[in-house]
Amino acid sequence: MSKALSSIREYYLALLRRWGPQNWWPAQSRFEVIAGAYLTQNTAWINVEKAMMNLRQARALSVSRIRKIPITELEQLVRPSGYFRQKAQRLKTFIAYLDEKYGGSLDRMFSQETQKLRAELLALNGVGPETADSILLYAGNHPVFVVDAYTRRILERHRIIGKKIGYEEIRNLIESAISSTEPELLKVLEQGAEPRHPVSRMSRMQRSHLAQHYNEFHALIVRTGNEFCRSIPRCEGCPLRPFLPRHFVLTGGQQPRRRPNRK
Ligand code: SF4
Repeated sequence: MSKALSSIREYYLALLRRWGPQNWWPAQSRFEVIAGAYLTQNTAWINVEKAMMNLRQARALSVSRIRKIPITELEQLVRPSGYFRQKAQRLKTFIAYLDEKYGGSLDRMFSQETQKLRAELLALNGVGPETADSILLYAGNHPVFVVDAYTRRILERHRIIGKKIGYEEIRNLIESAISSTEPELLKVLEQGAEPRHPVSRMSRMQRSHLAQHYNEFHALIVRTGNEFCRSIPRCEGCPLRPFLPRHFVLTGGQQPRRRPNRK
């Protein structure tokens, strides 16, 4: 295993040992995850929660209701998540695709082979790799890793990747690193865990060990990003601090910087 792969694996194990399984995604149905994956584009999760609350109160969190609801009403319900006209239209587009290709059945859609379904989702208006992979992993339990801005930031700051590396390369790197992780590890670490979210129906769904590891690693990276690896990093106390390259100087509130060369 290359140094980059073994480092990524060590990061995962360190985060898992510190916090344990995270119970992501906090949703009661597959469609709720799909709606959340669209609504979270370009906004903070707290705004998504407000839009989801609106949808829940209007009993609109289902394929059949989104199909029937007038677009102007849907726009108002998702308004707190920003870009509300665009997001309402994208949800409608997803339902049109589901109806046309799979007769409105999420079961039929998710029973497709992973790469085929991924290509179909990526062809939909407004679905980039992060949204497609969130839907595949967290709604469909397909084993794909979700790369987000925190993943990129953490791996860049630790000099695992360069600035120009693309989404697919990062995804392949992490999937290669995690594919050999012990299947029973999660069960062992559930004792004494510090989950970030309460257990939900979707977080407890049956899935392969690999999908569960991708699920947890992404959630752990999001937590690291939220709590420590912000635009100004808080490296002291971060579970990944021991792995930060030694040639970086860290002082409170500063970016990790290369130590000046000594003459
Ligand atoms: S906060 Fe510091 S130690 Fe933690 S992941 Fe970011 S750069 Fe690494």
